[in-house]
Amino acid sequence: MIQIESLFKAYGNIKAVNGISFSVKEGDLFSLLGTNGAGKSTTIGILTTLLAKTSGAVTVGGIDAAKNPERVRELIGVVFQESVLDDKLTVRENLMVRGSLYGLRGARLKSCVNEAIRLTALGELDTRLYGRLSGGQRRRTDIARALVNTPRLLFLDEPTTGLDPKTRRDIWRLIRNLQKSRGMTVFLTTHYMEEAAESDDIVIIHKGEIKARGTPTQLKAAYCTDLLKITTTDGRYNEYKLRSTLEALPIIERHKENIANVEIINGTLDDVFLNLTSGKNSLCEFFPPTDSTAAAGGMN
Ligand code: ADP
Repeated sequence: MIQIESLFKAYGNIKAVNGISFSVKEGDLFSLLGTNGAGKSTTIGILTTLLAKTSGAVTVGGIDAAKNPERVRELIGVVFQESVLDDKLTVRENLMVRGSLYGLRGARLKSCVNEAIRLTALGELDTRLYGRLSGGQRRRTDIARALVNTPRLLFLDEPTTGLDPKTRRDIWRLIRNLQKSRGMTVFLTTHYMEEAAESDDIVIIHKGEIKARGTPTQLKAAYCTDLLKITTTDGRYNEYKLRSTLEALPIIERHKENIANVEIINGTLDDVFLNLTSGKNSLCEFFPPTDSTAAAGGMN
């Protein structure tokens, strides 16, 4: 659905995106992750044809985004970080305005707006002023706006930032549902790693360059460790870094006569992200093994 080859974007001396290449498969939930200033918004800006690239090649749905921006825009829906809707219009009026900007008219316009309202469960709110809605309802309307032109590809730039946990979960369910039931490709940026952990595919960028790419499972296997904590009956407390959870078994076996407590903490995508972008070790990498048996036994 998306192909990016050696994409480069400079603002004067600042290399915001510094030669990145990756692709996004049709139907996937894809997450682009990175700290502030990593180049995520610049990349999304170029993919959505709002920004011009400095060099490289970008195709969306097989269409060159620089040569045919109008055709790309017909394929995509975009949910921006900041709302772009009118506070003084109702939910339905906002969506009608949006649809007519896409050239939709009459019965076709009405049916597209109705479908966007249905998909985002806004039926009971469609006559309410956008400016009077709660944060979660506004976000749902922003997503409905992006759905009016029945896009094949939906871009969401930090869709759940600033929402309370329950609303975040509701918005997240809505996004997952659109991806699963409509087969829509979803391109996401988020600061919430537990959301990104549900992606089919992830790219982590840092200072305009790709640091890692893979499924959540692949990234965890490559860039973080699990932690085994053992307390023995004589009161000693030991920690071991594990490359895989299975490595715990021989260690537990060695201690089994006098174990008081065992705990395994699995590395998370948070650890992966911190390990790749902060330069510092995350929690799961942080503790050195303290057990002399572990060192003698050749544990890493
Ligand atoms: P992110 O979305 O990951 O936070 P951005 O793509 O917004 O990152 O920014 C990448 C880099 O480009 C940052 O160093 C940022 O300061 C710089 N940048 C972004 N937009 C502009 C601009 N319009 N003019 C100059 N520098 C910019």
